[in-house]
Amino acid sequence: MGEIIRGKPVADRITEEVKLSVEKLKNAGLFPKLAILRVGNDPSDLAYERGALTRMEKCGIEAEVFELSDDVSEDSLISHLEYISDRQDINGILIFRPLPGHLDENRIKHFISPEKDVDCFSPANVAKILEGDKTGFSPATPSAVMEILKFYHIDLQGKHCVVLGRSMVVGKPLSMLLLGQHATVTICHSKTKDLKNICRMADVLIAAVGRAKMVDESFVKEGAIVIDVGINSDDEGNLIGDVDFESCIDKASMITPVPGGVGSVTTSVLAQHVLKACEVSSFFPGH
Ligand code: NAP
Repeated sequence: MGEIIRGKPVADRITEEVKLSVEKLKNAGLFPKLAILRVGNDPSDLAYERGALTRMEKCGIEAEVFELSDDVSEDSLISHLEYISDRQDINGILIFRPLPGHLDENRIKHFISPEKDVDCFSPANVAKILEGDKTGFSPATPSAVMEILKFYHIDLQGKHCVVLGRSMVVGKPLSMLLLGQHATVTICHSKTKDLKNICRMADVLIAAVGRAKMVDESFVKEGAIVIDVGINSDDEGNLIGDVDFESCIDKASMITPVPGGVGSVTTSVLAQHVLKACEVSSFFPGH
């Protein structure tokens, strides 16, 4: 039976580290602060926001929520984003995506300050991930996956990592981060042929497809590490991963649960990013 690798110890360690660093910053007169920009009242955004606010509080980071109605105009949203980007007391900005369909993310993303873009919305930060430039911010979820792999001492060098999913929020950036750790990476998506056989070649299989329990034991090589990024819900509102945990646990050597896996690490990574943004702003005042 595989080892269940949980997110909580990872999140706890990051939180403790961030908290200590925040205390040092405060002693030096710097007060890290996150702004959350939310359009509408999507239940999953609200749930994540609650988690993020609790985590920031635990870390000693201040947070302010900017709530806009779901029929906000693109120009009004951009004005808000510019206003928040210009605020000297705010170091990090999280904007919930996807935005409602009438808002053009491809235009809006240019108006967030890259130095405050703690969840990698700005093209400047996306480019840095591609370049392997660690001065930027990668999105919280792929970073959370990397933190879990690091915490459980999973050496990626030379390993074959198969990433199921190619979104800009998870699959693509995660693939670049894995590559940065010298893994050999295969990216799969809805048009991939022979999907199961490719997945069965993985030393590390990471599922981010948004399809409940799609990955069963027939996708998993004996002894593989299985990371489940998926968050789906059933009719009763229970959270379900993209991996059929019960089916895979005997074959995998390590496996993350849902809930209690990747999702529990993301807000601590967000706090880590706000801290980094605050530290950088102290080197370059005015950003
Ligand atoms: P997304 O934007 O919908 O992307 C899903 C990806 O999976 C796409 O690349 C899609 O391929 C691929 N895909 C869909 N069906 C497939 C199939 N049958 N076979 C192979 N590939 C398939 O979703 P996302 O935003 O990346 O999120 C993925 C999952 O992670 C969701 O469950 C989401 O709720 C979860 N998530 C979790 C966290 C967290 O903190 N744990 C954060 C964000 C997201 P195409 O590109 O070809 O369409």
